[in-house]
Amino acid sequence: MYRIDHWIDGRTVSSTSGRTGNVYDPATGQVQGTVGFADLSEVDKAIAIAKAALPAWRATNLSRRAEIMFHMRELVAANRKEIAALLTKEHGKVTSDALGEVARGLENIEFACGIPNLMKGGYSEQASAGVDVYNIRQPLGVVAGITPFNFPAMVPMWMFANALACGNTFVLKPSEKDPSASMFIAELLKQAGLPDGVFNVVHGDKVAVDRLLDHPDIAAVSFVGSTPIAKYIYETGTKNGKRVQALGGAKNHMLVLPDADLDMAADALVSAAYGSAGERCMAISVVLAVDTIADELVSKVKDRIPNVVVGPGNDPSSEMGPLISGEHRDKVAGYVAGAAGEGATVVVDGRDGAPTGGFFLKPSLIDNAKPGMKCYDDEIFGPVLTVVRVKSYEDGLKLINDNQFGNGTAIFTRDGGVARQFQFDVNVGMVGINVPIPVPVSYYSFGGWKASLFGDLHMYGPDGIQFYTRSKVVTSRWPDPRTSKVDLGFPQNR
Ligand code: NAD
Repeated sequence: MYRIDHWIDGRTVSSTSGRTGNVYDPATGQVQGTVGFADLSEVDKAIAIAKAALPAWRATNLSRRAEIMFHMRELVAANRKEIAALLTKEHGKVTSDALGEVARGLENIEFACGIPNLMKGGYSEQASAGVDVYNIRQPLGVVAGITPFNFPAMVPMWMFANALACGNTFVLKPSEKDPSASMFIAELLKQAGLPDGVFNVVHGDKVAVDRLLDHPDIAAVSFVGSTPIAKYIYETGTKNGKRVQALGGAKNHMLVLPDADLDMAADALVSAAYGSAGERCMAISVVLAVDTIADELVSKVKDRIPNVVVGPGNDPSSEMGPLISGEHRDKVAGYVAGAAGEGATVVVDGRDGAPTGGFFLKPSLIDNAKPGMKCYDDEIFGPVLTVVRVKSYEDGLKLINDNQFGNGTAIFTRDGGVARQFQFDVNVGMVGINVPIPVPVSYYSFGGWKASLFGDLHMYGPDGIQFYTRSKVVTSRWPDPRTSKVDLGFPQNR
């Protein structure tokens, strides 16, 4: 049994609230640790420390901030196996997947290394006689990040890399289900040369989150998690005058047209639906199969499922690990159990033969689903792929556009014209063309549409820099006694 506490002012600070949460090993189902839950005074302390660290940090040279990000890049790369091991230990994902998470997070630190370029403003010389106008980007202040269980390292990196590089100080509230990675990252930031107090971690639940949302010294909140909470965070945070970006849940559809390479599509479906046990916001959870190829596609996916090796994440032969908790495993299993009663066809039932002891399910495949069935309408967030048969491209497109979520989608086809039309027509924030999980590289930005994102700016990349800074416009004239005179008219430029 181990214990996780907060990280405030560059060191571990024990929680004294008396409230804790259990941290499970999802591969065994056993409690392996506890995490201290912050009370109001602990959150206030972290915010006060971050506020005190702000003046010196925002005055730190851009080149020094970049240098710290370069150091952090090296440290994360050197410790990627240690971070991945923590992810496997508390989240359950298999080692190769955990290493992938670290690699995708690292891209965001690499992006932030370019902060001197990213913070550049614009300059207009001689906007009026002897007058120059320019804009500069300045940090917001103390900003908060609230993150989900499914990417305990990558999603914090989406946020803090740009936030810190822009000159903000940070308070992270990670998921209470897998809190260790954030503590390891905090130590690496310290080793990288980040001054104490610039990055802080408070653990906990709604109590900590609500304090971050109503504390007057928090300027902005970045959130990633489920849609109901994202909506709550957005509404509460903006009501309290904060800048908020709140990313929510998903139901990502993959449209497979009759001209697609069906083997490639089936490989992509198995990888994208069952990777990380389906606990990815960019997982494919619905395949829209055009009638003429639906039987063949379903049979190809069905044939591949028995080859997916399900087991503990730290077993090198495992391809899919357990789910995050027993409660979540049972909820996911409930969708499979209920599918037949709703009129769908359970082609593969992942409850059969799942390893015992941990929070395991095997991959499930549900055919003949329709809108109105829970297995189609809800975000299941587990290893369940649902097939909806459609008559045409237009039918498939309509289903995607009618869906409440708009995070990711993909089309599989050999027809470039149709793919281009799809990219034009579809109401979804991230689109893959023969790419099942189109998570943008770090120099673009990540974000869905509709109920998958509340707020205006997407996460990381150029939007991240915009989110974590505000623009100031300066109009400047240097004294020239030759042109000085009294003029009570409104300033004009002609
Ligand atoms: P969650 O919404 O339960 O929790 C996210 C965070 O909010 C956690 O830190 C949690 O402690 C906190 N929280 C939970 N309930 C709260 C409440 N009532 N009030 C205030 N704070 C609360 O999400 P999760 O289960 O950790 O993660 C899975 C969800 O996240 C899925 O819906 C998935 O689609 C989504 N997700 C979305 C993206 C994206 O980029 N859109 C990325 C990853 C995960």
